[in-house]
Amino acid sequence: MYDLLVINADILQIEGPSASFLPRHALAITDGRIAAIAPTISPGLAREVLDAQGKLAIPGLINAHAHTAMSLLRGVAEDVAVESWFNDYIWPMEMNLSAEDVYWGSLLGFAEMIEAGVTCVADHYFAMDEVARAVDVAGMRAYLAQVFFSGPQENDQLATSVAFAERWQGSAAGRITTGLGPHSPYTCTPSLLQRTAEVARQHGLGVHLHLAETADQVAQSLAHHGKTPVALVRDVGLFEVPTLAAHLAHPTQEDLAILAAADVRVVSTPKTELKMALGVTPVVQMRQLGLTVGLGSDGAASNNSYDLLEAARLIALLEKHTRRDAHILPLGEALALATREGARALGLAGVTGELRVGYQADVVLIGHDAPHLQPMHNPVATLLYSARATDVDTVIVAGRILMQGRQLLTIDRQRVIDEVRQRAGHMVIRRANTQVARYPTE
Ligand SMILES: [Zn+2]
Repeated sequence: MYDLLVINADILQIEGPSASFLPRHALAITDGRIAAIAPTISPGLAREVLDAQGKLAIPGLINAHAHTAMSLLRGVAEDVAVESWFNDYIWPMEMNLSAEDVYWGSLLGFAEMIEAGVTCVADHYFAMDEVARAVDVAGMRAYLAQVFFSGPQENDQLATSVAFAERWQGSAAGRITTGLGPHSPYTCTPSLLQRTAEVARQHGLGVHLHLAETADQVAQSLAHHGKTPVALVRDVGLFEVPTLAAHLAHPTQEDLAILAAADVRVVSTPKTELKMALGVTPVVQMRQLGLTVGLGSDGAASNNSYDLLEAARLIALLEKHTRRDAHILPLGEALALATREGARALGLAGVTGELRVGYQADVVLIGHDAPHLQPMHNPVATLLYSARATDVDTVIVAGRILMQGRQLLTIDRQRVIDEVRQRAGHMVIRRANTQVARYPTE
């Protein structure tokens, strides 16, 4: 007896650079996993049946770099460069954050992500116990790391990050995995990064950090340390543990060889990178070198939305434009970045990111009746270039339905919106000379 059976779904299969849909198939789920995919499976074999007639079934989208609770700061720092964004707006405002704010801001972000078909997120923030609680409530899958910086409290902050990782590893029925969260080489000294590497090795943990986001960061690293941020992070030993590195818009040719040799997993967040004029991760070049690249949303204070279809669309358009080549990042490859490759980036290859027997049942059903999706000559193109987050109809994680007919089942949507609106006012107060860190620290 299956727990849940999805019938009449067009099921996305990505093979290499191409993708196609298995038409009108059934997908059976038992114990949170995909138990069978076949043209027909008798509804009598399942406790619950979902008819997906007129819907596309795709793997849950994977947001490989986010600061979800920054949903609280959506729109507070617009049309500014990164130094002002950090020092004049975000880091002074984050002094106001309570643990409860982080909880409600995370739930708001997870509601938005589920409504956009995102089932798994790599979150990198403060008060991570609250983020983990929100992940558990929402029913999502997550790779979580508590952020820390250099400063008088750096030893305590590192210890807190380790304790968080130990406390939550494998929790929420295995949906939560954890790592350490050094913010970046521009806010953490080489000695702190070196200690982080040692502790990560001892505890069998990976790390998640920001790396080589701007040309200025690379120039400052060369001036202060005589090496690029990538070479510095390699030399302190951080690449000896699984490393997830966000942005990486400015790797040198030598950096790319270092990253490929160390199997560093990269996350591009194209909307943030464009909006803050950081430069864009060279995704195609990295993939040609064998690097794993996922896509992320970053926080809503820079990205303004948690829409991963938008991220996949943006990176495909950007790379085609930048390289003056319409052939690159074809449909299947662009969609793979938001699914299969994101899973690989988070150490979840073989677990999620594809609709295959034995994988976790992280499934999203997308309706295709709307005018902006007609006629559907090429459903893969429809998905990448025409579908909107609001076309997502049903979201399943580990076999549990989190949204059905666009009704959230695990999150009280209105309650979360009311809480966040109440808390929004105090978030934007800026007191003189108090901020969580300084950009750049050195
Ligand atoms: Zn970030």
